[in-house]
Amino acid sequence: MTKLTFDRRHFLMGTAALIAVHPFSARAAGNQAHLRIMETTDLHVHVFPYDYYADKPVDTVGLARTASIIGEIRAEATNSMLIDNGDFLQGNPMGDYIAYERGMKDGDMHPVIQAMNAVGFDASTLGNHEFNYGLEFLNKALAGANFPVVSANIVKEMGAEPTKDKTLLPPFVILDRTVTDGDGNSHPIKVGLIGFVPPQVMNWDRKHLEGNVQARDIVDTAKAYVPLMKEQGADIIIALSHSGIGAADHTDGMENASVPLAMVDGIDAILTGHSHLVFPGPKFADIGGVDAEKGTIHGKPAAMGGFWGSHLGVIDLMLERSGNEWKIVSHMSEARPISKRNEDRSTTALVESDDAVLASVNKEHEETLAYVRRAVGKTDAALHSYFALVADDPSVQIVSNAQIWYIQEQLKGTEHEGLPILSAAAPFKAGGRGGPEYFTDVPVGDVAIKNVADLYLYPNTVRAVRVTGAQVKGWLERSAGMFNQVTAGEADQVLLDPEFPSYNFDVIDGVEYQIDLSQPSMFTAKGEPLNEGANRIVNLTFEGKPIDPAQEFIIATNNYRASGGGSFPGTGDTIVFEGPDTNRDVIVRYIVDKGTVSPRADANWTFAPLEGTSVLFDTGPAATKYIGDVTSVKIEAAGDGPDGFARFRIAL
Ligand code: MN
Ligand code: MG
Repeated sequence: MTKLTFDRRHFLMGTAALIAVHPFSARAAGNQAHLRIMETTDLHVHVFPYDYYADKPVDTVGLARTASIIGEIRAEATNSMLIDNGDFLQGNPMGDYIAYERGMKDGDMHPVIQAMNAVGFDASTLGNHEFNYGLEFLNKALAGANFPVVSANIVKEMGAEPTKDKTLLPPFVILDRTVTDGDGNSHPIKVGLIGFVPPQVMNWDRKHLEGNVQARDIVDTAKAYVPLMKEQGADIIIALSHSGIGAADHTDGMENASVPLAMVDGIDAILTGHSHLVFPGPKFADIGGVDAEKGTIHGKPAAMGGFWGSHLGVIDLMLERSGNEWKIVSHMSEARPISKRNEDRSTTALVESDDAVLASVNKEHEETLAYVRRAVGKTDAALHSYFALVADDPSVQIVSNAQIWYIQEQLKGTEHEGLPILSAAAPFKAGGRGGPEYFTDVPVGDVAIKNVADLYLYPNTVRAVRVTGAQVKGWLERSAGMFNQVTAGEADQVLLDPEFPSYNFDVIDGVEYQIDLSQPSMFTAKGEPLNEGANRIVNLTFEGKPIDPAQEFIIATNNYRASGGGSFPGTGDTIVFEGPDTNRDVIVRYIVDKGTVSPRADANWTFAPLEGTSVLFDTGPAATKYIGDVTSVKIEAAGDGPDGFARFRIAL
């Protein structure tokens, strides 16, 4: 590792003088100038290359890394600007530490702003997550920025048309810059920058925003302001669209509006974001109006720089001057990564951190490390997953408790308010191929932020689906494929199907049910139909009565499941809420809000009794200390399993 680092430094030092000049800079004629626009987006407070949840360094994130490639990429171009496209203030434990613990007193600097100041940005816009901690917090954070922050569609007082609005921040800026042309002469240029955020912030952060601001449609707002920017002398106009690349047709209030936004006359280039993807890039291959290879939307240059500092979006413009006017005569787009993924899924850093950027937030980094290692709340039940596949379990229960708490708030005031809210959650760390230590195990008492990563391994985001009672049953039938079919009356049968991943074993909270292991599974381990009429799920009740197949329910879950991951009945086309918050963030907020959580399992599911029948399953040897907690099944130790696992017997 040390050697590799040295080699890389050596390589960079050796070639510093030989940085390739971009063809646009090399080719620019006397009346032409090469202007390079660089974009970071969705930084989410990632400055150090560090995963605070896992409490370990990583090579895939961090503005300190991006800053290093910015230097190199700047050096390739005669003229350049650096812009951030929003979602910088929230999204990792450093952001939570500042918001929940240290706070923002008047005059306090926010670390991500400090880091951005150290890098040197020309401008930024707001993302939806800028509102997560409220407007007062946002204003205090922005007060420290030494660059302008624009946002055209968040409005304090609506006017008759957008240009008559009183906006929260300046809707746009026109920056006076000087560019050097192909002959080495300098010329003034006015660069107009206008910012947009999904109007859905009014739902996502209703408690902070309702009564304080309103949101306008992105495209309508752009159409109103762009002519005004032209009137005020903007030579070129760049849209800072904290919005994804989605549907081609404009619909009122759409979240991912960058494609119709590109149709607006007068906009010359579009910086996009919000969806945490890379553009140009193959993810956008089949989208109308989009050239995913060239990096254009309706022929206009566009870029999206990944997320957490993973990439720098780059748009190169060849400008040509006639009289006092500049126009774009050609352009190129790319997204440059800070790391690469190897064939064995490991990652290699492509760049070192910028020391000045690290130094700018070193104090807050250290404080955040202490924060993630320190208690933020307490649990009065041990959060362990040793028995998560055989009994209702506190490590799954806490996820459902947090999801229901969050979705209840999010659906207030919508047409879905009042429907019963269930929650689906699965054990992620449950032994299996991860080995006998691969379990969640947080004892009664303090809960630290880093424990939450252990409870919820994946950076999924919360979703809610609207389903029928029949779909609830189908969902549970799919889950119950976790188990082998057993023969009634036989002893010591193997319970778990090793081909079935634990993350597809959803427990649904809010209903009660039993799993009859003597029945065949309705689906294969992969989710293909197997036995259409199968009935493993028995005695399924809601509020003490058999579930009505026609009754409607909300199920709180994650983006993977809701969008059809695992092929569960009731998913794919049933989403009624798409939130920007990760399930992990929601669990942290839940614990901070409650102070003490009580995720005691409520035994809402059990195995159906089968006279004279027993099954064996393997779990971590540390499970022994919790065996007394499991009251919903008759369980006893049954010696050693293979590979360091401990074996237990359940009498059905
Ligand atoms: Mn984001
Ligand atoms: Mg439960």
